[in-house]
Amino acid sequence: MSSYGTLFSGMLQEFEGAARLLNLEPGIWQMLTHPKRQIIVSCPVQMDSGEIQVFTGFRVQYNVTLGPAKGGIRYHPDVTLDEVTTLAAWMTWKCAVAQLPFGGGKGGVICDPTKMSKRELEALTRRYTAEIIDAIGPDKDVPAPDVNTNEQVMAWFSDTYSMHVGHTSTAVVTGKPVEMGGSLGRREATGRGAMIVAREAARHLGFSLDGSKVAVQGFGNVGAIGAQLMAEQGAVIIGVTDWKGGVQNPTGLDIPKLQQWVAQHKTVAGFPGGEPLAAADVFTLDAEILMPAALEKQITLDNVHDIKAKLIVEGANGPTTTEAHKILHEKGVFVVPDILANAGGVTTSYFEWVQDRHGYFWTEKEVNERLEAKMCQAFETVLKTALEYNVDMRVAAYIVAIGRVATVTKMRGMYA
Ligand code: NAD
Repeated sequence: MSSYGTLFSGMLQEFEGAARLLNLEPGIWQMLTHPKRQIIVSCPVQMDSGEIQVFTGFRVQYNVTLGPAKGGIRYHPDVTLDEVTTLAAWMTWKCAVAQLPFGGGKGGVICDPTKMSKRELEALTRRYTAEIIDAIGPDKDVPAPDVNTNEQVMAWFSDTYSMHVGHTSTAVVTGKPVEMGGSLGRREATGRGAMIVAREAARHLGFSLDGSKVAVQGFGNVGAIGAQLMAEQGAVIIGVTDWKGGVQNPTGLDIPKLQQWVAQHKTVAGFPGGEPLAAADVFTLDAEILMPAALEKQITLDNVHDIKAKLIVEGANGPTTTEAHKILHEKGVFVVPDILANAGGVTTSYFEWVQDRHGYFWTEKEVNERLEAKMCQAFETVLKTALEYNVDMRVAAYIVAIGRVATVTKMRGMYA
């Protein structure tokens, strides 16, 4: 796999640790470390100026052994094939850990949406959809939002696909507006899933969310909702940071008021219900629980030694470097890894797909109860595996995921 970049190599390291413990056969090892399909497309778009610009887009279906590929579409200037392939691999393991009938996929377009008009974004989305249309569909590959894509982009995507196939297809994407087949509870699902695994991990470690001090990096969809739901369980949110700064209060921040502040000011910085907190200091607060919910590679060798939390819940994808994770393990910090901790989002995407295919929609209470059951089941299975193999939760999550995909790969046999 030497043609891949550093992100994919990092994923392979995580894979190898677990695959060795599973005594994975060399052939299956080879199959699970090669992406099934990588599509590169050129998307010409007439810009508002009248000129034609050609954007490069990717869609990777890493593995579809368990079901249709599932994974978001990212619009960003730094998108690369290596990044999209790695994210598609992570989606494969995340869906398998959560025991969803999905494989892993991911898409991306190299573009800067902050510099594009709404019309240009719509034109790009429709052309990208048309370019990959043969590879997608409710039984083949079901995209969703990711960085810089949202419900509106999913609505355009769904409409373009529907016009091509000649009928309205809601189940071709998830993360749609509720009015056109989206699921209630989807917006809160990742934060809710993170709260559920935090609660289960705390119980395993002999404490409770009620009264526990929590620090959160990132106050967006995952961080803000995760913090809100933990606070509703009695947790005391003592510090929060975002792209611009942070705020702390040892007796607890008022999260609903902080959300109102962020809606107006676009940052937690300056919130009057606490004192300023420097971005880097969120990791060193005297908290029992730390939830990184911003970006990748935030917990590193530079800050890992100062972390006081005994429980880390990875709301973000890839927030801890491999080296830092080793130190956390040695220090006895319990880390709920990303592919388990933030699986609530894709789990509710699965519920959206199921509801679309049935044409029958659930109440928010039903969605949340089913999410609770799925997350608890996934947590229990990974914990049991960690104890059985005497490994940390990250290796255990990979053992569960790879084990499930490998078992079905062997059952299905070789098509040749
Ligand atoms: P978001 O854009 O809603 O929020 C991101 C937050 O991180 C914002 O508050 C932003 O200010 C903050 N942030 C950005 N740069 C920062 C920095 N340098 N330091 C501190 N804070 C910074 O994004 P989100 O949907 O909440 O996603 C957050 C993470 O969770 C990402 O890694 C994403 O891949 C992962 N994730 C999200 C979902 C989902 O359903 N939204 C599902 C699975 C995983």
